[in-house]
Amino acid sequence: AKNRGRNNYQFFTAELNAKAFETLATEAALRKALEHQEFVLHYQAQVDVANSRITGAEALVRWQHPKLGLIGPDKFIPVAEERGLINRIGDWVLHAACRQAKAWEDAGHLQLPVAVNISARQLREGTLRDSVLGALAASGLDPHLLVLEITETAVMEDMDTAVAVLEDLCKLGVAIEIDDFGTGYSSLAYLKRLPIHRLKIDRSFVRDVPGTSDDEAIIRAIVSMAHSLKLDVIAEGVETADQAGFLRGLGCPDMQGFWLARPEPPVEFERLLARGDIV
Ligand code: C2E
Ligand code: CA
Ligand code: CA
Ligand code: CA
Repeated sequence: AKNRGRNNYQFFTAELNAKAFETLATEAALRKALEHQEFVLHYQAQVDVANSRITGAEALVRWQHPKLGLIGPDKFIPVAEERGLINRIGDWVLHAACRQAKAWEDAGHLQLPVAVNISARQLREGTLRDSVLGALAASGLDPHLLVLEITETAVMEDMDTAVAVLEDLCKLGVAIEIDDFGTGYSSLAYLKRLPIHRLKIDRSFVRDVPGTSDDEAIIRAIVSMAHSLKLDVIAEGVETADQAGFLRGLGCPDMQGFWLARPEPPVEFERLLARGDIV
């Protein structure tokens, strides 16, 4: 038994080392990717199904790797956060998204707000305001057309910092959204302290409705709370007509998900905009 224990231990450390090695390798590759501008943004439509209209776009970063192809954010954002590269990547994302939103406005696509994901570390490190100001100035985008998506857990990590940073950003005119809402196991009292414009219902609650009474109750509670607090509310991860019908029936016609549109490169997204009828 002793022997097996030791072998298990060795196996465990070997795995750990492999993981550490992978992280370091990715870090070096990420630095190169920043230098060589290998990141791209895809855009997922946000749709008001009651009017069958695209009301916004969420920018989602991808890494166009010269050898490995398109790599999703789950593969490199955690490494970027851990190794202190997220501020540089996040700054690039903000600039690219604002430039794109301005280009769409100039192309006559009305005024389409673009939503950008902000990581916990960006919120914490004190450079976010300058980054946002820089991206707005460089692009000439109206601040009202920029939405910052901040996760509930990021806000809870350090509430006092979050309040101060978000109030500052709010003064610039940008909109603040709480992403993955409902997953943070947090006290709802924080909603009162924060300058928030919109809640995004996490897709884990959307997945099994209609038909799962707990999830149905949670969604109903979030939507009604948003209404009473005069916040906008949007649901993510909508994959079926039934889910969309359920949400719409509850008074949540704003949604995002594969049933409506997948995240697409700008050219494909523009095709969607031009087509008009989404549902
Ligand atoms: P998120 O902010 O919750 O973004 C939504 C994710 O759900 C996206 O994955 C999107 O492709 C996916 N999705 C959209 N509709 C559906 C659906 O109907 N069903 C399912 N199953 N999934 C759907 P993606 O693009 O892989 O992004 C994953 C996460 O990476 C994002 O989760 C976000 O936390 C992070 N991320 C993406 N872009 C950025 C960025 O520019 N900066 C930072 N800090 N994080 C980012
Ligand atoms: Ca998001
Ligand atoms: Ca989300
Ligand atoms: Ca999520």
